[in-house]
Amino acid sequence: MRRKIVAGNWKMNNDLTETEGLITDIKKQQRTSDAQVMIAPTFTNLWHAYQALRLSDIEVVAQNMHFAESGAYTGEVSAGMLKSVGINGVILGHSERRAYFKETDEMLAEKVNAALENEMFVIFCFGEELDDRKAGRHEQVVESQIKNGLFHLQASQWKHIVLAYEPVWAIGTGETASPEQAQDMHAFIRQVLETKYGNAVAENTSILYGGSVKPANAEEIFSKPDVDGGLIGGAALKAEDFYAIVNAI
Ligand code: PEP
Repeated sequence: MRRKIVAGNWKMNNDLTETEGLITDIKKQQRTSDAQVMIAPTFTNLWHAYQALRLSDIEVVAQNMHFAESGAYTGEVSAGMLKSVGINGVILGHSERRAYFKETDEMLAEKVNAALENEMFVIFCFGEELDDRKAGRHEQVVESQIKNGLFHLQASQWKHIVLAYEPVWAIGTGETASPEQAQDMHAFIRQVLETKYGNAVAENTSILYGGSVKPANAEEIFSKPDVDGGLIGGAALKAEDFYAIVNAI
């Protein structure tokens, strides 16, 4: 059975004091769903967040990492470094990393390998641009991102992979894919997985939707059978909103 997950991507928001405040607020929230909750603070606050939440049911994950173990990569952080501060999961391939930092499918495949070699799980993001959707090639784009980033893996490694479909036109824009658009794409992704790896991998891989999920639209999106939760940006920065989304599952 695949897991239901709601993960908050805090992006480059919240200094240490703000991180402490948001975690305190999160701890006060009432939980009525059994979804796995994750938060992804910025690198400098991961150790603090891990310490503050290690006895809770909230998993702290990183927003990115480098593929090398160590060396002359100024400004980068490795999987081993993340593990050393208690972090066992990482978001890879977010569209902001792809667009602003020119991360390619090939680099992402290497990052995925580095994460798995370090016994970390990966939330692997992908999604089409508005032009792709308008031109009707959104499925093609998504399929190629998944193939190039992940199809070198063995079926047995897929238990460490969570997928996050995030149409770029819906991220931080207030515009959300309709629940039907999300369902159609998630069903397509599951089909792509089934063709390559068979039914067990397709059925057991969680596929999250991301792109302007809010308390007002979460329930409808999450009610779709192939949507296993969400990757949440803006709405994850307010504990009440984030937990309204968590509880919408
Ligand atoms: C994201 O950054 O992954 C995201 C989905 O952002 P937002 O919810 O703000 O659209």
